[in-house]
Amino acid sequence: MAGEPDWVPPGIDTRRANIARLYDYLLGGSHNFLADQDLGRALAAVEPDVRAIARANRAFGGRAVRFLGSAGIRQFLDIGSGIPTEGNVHEVAQRADRGARVVYADIDPVAIAHSRTILANRENAAIIEGDLREPEKILAHDDTRRLIDFSQPAGLLLVSVLHYVADADDPWSAVATLREALAPGSYLVLCHGTAEGKPAVVQAAGKVFNRSVATQSHVRSRAEITRLFGDFALVDPGLVHIPLWRPDSPADVPGDPSKFWCLAGVARKPLRQDIRGAAVEHCPHNAWAKTWHTRPRCPPRSPLSGFDVFTGGLLVVDPGLAADRGDRDHDIRIAARSGAARAGWRGPSTSPAPARS
Ligand code: SAM
Repeated sequence: MAGEPDWVPPGIDTRRANIARLYDYLLGGSHNFLADQDLGRALAAVEPDVRAIARANRAFGGRAVRFLGSAGIRQFLDIGSGIPTEGNVHEVAQRADRGARVVYADIDPVAIAHSRTILANRENAAIIEGDLREPEKILAHDDTRRLIDFSQPAGLLLVSVLHYVADADDPWSAVATLREALAPGSYLVLCHGTAEGKPAVVQAAGKVFNRSVATQSHVRSRAEITRLFGDFALVDPGLVHIPLWRPDSPADVPGDPSKFWCLAGVARKPLRQDIRGAAVEHCPHNAWAKTWHTRPRCPPRSPLSGFDVFTGGLLVVDPGLAADRGDRDHDIRIAARSGAARAGWRGPSTSPAPARS
């Protein structure tokens, strides 16, 4: 439209509210228009806490990225990243480590254009146009492949984006594809709208939102949101209303956290991997390890039936099992199917090592 600010990409209908610009408005940003502001005000009429919820959501993302940084994560894929504002992922992550790498993905043209401007000349961060409903394309994008090493743990952020994906588009399957691509030890950061605790206000806000915005919102139950984590293990405090997720200070926890009607959680991809079929590359007990693994007289649970893969590519034999077998001084190197992973565990030894063949 004529007379638009120069940051508006061509072809945008600024007379219609949209998610990214509404969120920008709620956060006090400047990349929004009258339609977005009107919707923000209409939402505030039915949910007076709507701005506080948007800020709490944003703050959760920051806390989660700091948590991941402290856990050693140095690469992040943030899908549904929004219009850049205070505390973007690359800023928070690069405070912990200047070399941290971030790929942002969004479908909103304004979010993409503004992110491009902010990230110009930054080697370690990029924005791509990407639709969460097509996760393979996001994973295959050149910038994703350039910045994210999928053989190493990464942080996947899906913060307040999944409730814009309808059941018919199977968000569970989209997230499963993304989880699958991540290395063991990676984290999934998720925040999702729920009616749990506040059904009336959530329904009223949903009606107002869905009347104005083409992309509809879909709040979900705790069970439906939990399923998005698949077999990832939620870290403390689990899936909780936003202010309860590792608050910076007890003073940040309101009397009624369910007023912030989104559930937030961070979960880690398990280290345990099934590497049956892996070849033993080196092991002081190589012979018997191989024997147990490959010969028909293998016990049903051979030492190679379960391993933990540490972030550094380290493999550890199930300690309980190794102790059962009287296994001592493990130093097993495994060429796992996915590449050369290495093992080393010096486990408890309660009885003599088994006979070797
Ligand atoms: N994640 C940011 C945060 O929490 O601060 C922004 C959240 S904002 C509420 C939701 C963002 O998701 C918007 O920028 C919107 O354009 C984006 N979005 C909605 N549906 C999407 C989809 N299918 N794929 C990618 N992004 C999407």
